[in-house]
Amino acid sequence: MRTCAGCRERLSQSELIRLRYVKNRVAIVRPGDGTTGRSVYLCPSEGCWHRALKRGRLTFKSAKRDRTVVHLEPREREQLLLRLKGYTREQDSLN
Ligand SMILES: [Zn+2]
Repeated sequence: MRTCAGCRERLSQSELIRLRYVKNRVAIVRPGDGTTGRSVYLCPSEGCWHRALKRGRLTFKSAKRDRTVVHLEPREREQLLLRLKGYTREQDSLN
Protein backbone atom coordinates (compact mmCIF):
# COMPACT_ATOMS: atom_id res chain seq x y z
CA MET A 1 0.00 0.00 0.00
CA ARG A 2 1.16 3.50 -0.85
CA THR A 3 -0.14 6.96 0.01
CA CYS A 4 -1.28 9.40 -2.68
CA ALA A 5 0.61 12.69 -2.28
CA GLY A 6 -2.58 14.57 -3.18
CA CYS A 7 -5.40 13.12 -1.09
CA ARG A 8 -3.36 10.96 1.35
CA GLU A 9 -5.55 7.97 0.53
CA ARG A 10 -3.79 4.62 0.84
CA LEU A 11 -4.09 2.46 -2.25
CA SER A 12 -2.27 -0.49 -3.69
CA GLN A 13 0.73 0.42 -5.78
CA SER A 14 -0.90 -0.82 -8.99
CA GLU A 15 -3.72 1.71 -8.66
CA LEU A 16 -1.37 4.66 -8.35
CA ILE A 17 0.86 6.60 -10.70
CA ARG A 18 4.46 6.49 -9.61
CA LEU A 19 6.92 9.33 -10.08
CA ARG A 20 10.66 9.13 -9.64
CA TYR A 21 13.29 11.82 -9.65
CA VAL A 22 16.00 10.80 -12.07
CA LYS A 23 18.81 12.99 -13.42
CA ASN A 24 17.20 16.21 -12.18
CA ARG A 25 13.94 15.36 -13.86
CA VAL A 26 10.61 14.00 -12.69
CA ALA A 27 9.91 10.74 -14.51
CA ILE A 28 6.62 8.84 -14.69
CA VAL A 29 7.38 5.19 -14.01
CA ARG A 30 5.54 2.53 -16.01
CA PRO A 31 3.87 -0.16 -13.93
CA GLY A 32 6.07 -3.22 -13.53
CA ASP A 33 9.23 -1.53 -14.69
CA GLY A 34 10.87 -2.84 -11.56
CA THR A 35 12.86 0.22 -10.53
CA THR A 36 13.13 0.98 -6.86
CA GLY A 37 14.11 4.11 -5.02
CA ARG A 38 12.61 7.36 -3.89
CA SER A 39 9.15 7.86 -5.31
CA VAL A 40 6.00 9.93 -5.18
CA TYR A 41 2.64 8.22 -5.69
CA LEU A 42 -0.48 9.84 -7.10
CA CYS A 43 -4.05 8.70 -7.81
CA PRO A 44 -4.96 8.73 -11.49
CA SER A 45 -7.17 11.74 -10.77
CA GLU A 46 -6.39 15.27 -11.86
CA GLY A 47 -7.62 16.77 -8.59
CA CYS A 48 -4.91 14.90 -6.71
CA TRP A 49 -2.16 16.07 -9.07
CA HIS A 50 -3.16 19.69 -8.55
CA ARG A 51 -3.30 19.23 -4.80
CA ALA A 52 0.08 17.49 -4.72
CA LEU A 53 1.70 20.16 -6.90
CA LYS A 54 0.00 23.17 -5.36
CA ARG A 55 3.08 24.35 -3.53
CA GLY A 56 5.40 23.35 -6.36
CA ARG A 57 7.11 20.88 -4.09
CA LEU A 58 7.28 17.10 -4.29
CA THR A 59 8.76 14.90 -1.58
CA PHE A 60 10.21 11.68 -2.95
CA LYS A 61 10.42 9.00 -0.27
CA SER A 62 12.04 5.61 -0.18
CA ALA A 63 10.98 2.57 1.78
CA LYS A 64 13.85 3.40 4.14
CA ARG A 65 12.34 6.84 4.68
CA ASP A 66 15.10 8.70 2.86
CA ARG A 67 13.60 11.71 1.20
CA THR A 68 14.39 14.16 -1.55
CA VAL A 69 12.39 17.36 -1.78
CA VAL A 70 12.10 18.72 -5.30
CA HIS A 71 10.95 22.26 -6.06
CA LEU A 72 9.28 22.76 -9.41
CA GLU A 73 9.07 26.05 -11.26
CA PRO A 74 5.54 26.97 -12.42
CA ARG A 75 6.52 25.98 -15.97
CA GLU A 76 7.83 22.58 -14.85
CA ARG A 77 4.66 22.08 -12.88
CA GLU A 78 2.50 22.76 -15.95
CA GLN A 79 4.61 20.39 -18.03
CA LEU A 80 4.31 17.63 -15.45
CA LEU A 81 0.52 18.05 -15.36
CA LEU A 82 0.41 17.73 -19.16
CA ARG A 83 2.62 14.64 -19.06
CA LEU A 84 0.39 13.07 -16.39
CA LYS A 85 -2.65 13.76 -18.57
CA GLY A 86 -0.97 12.15 -21.56
CA TYR A 87 0.14 9.22 -19.45
CA THR A 88 -3.34 8.42 -18.07
CA ARG A 89 -4.86 8.80 -21.56
CA GLU A 90 -2.36 6.29 -22.88
CA GLN A 91 -3.05 3.88 -20.01
CA ASP A 92 -6.80 4.15 -20.62
CA SER A 93 -6.39 3.30 -24.27
CA LEU A 94 -4.44 0.15 -23.34
CA ASN A 95 -7.18 -1.14 -21.06
ZN1 LIG B 1 -5.26 10.93 -4.45
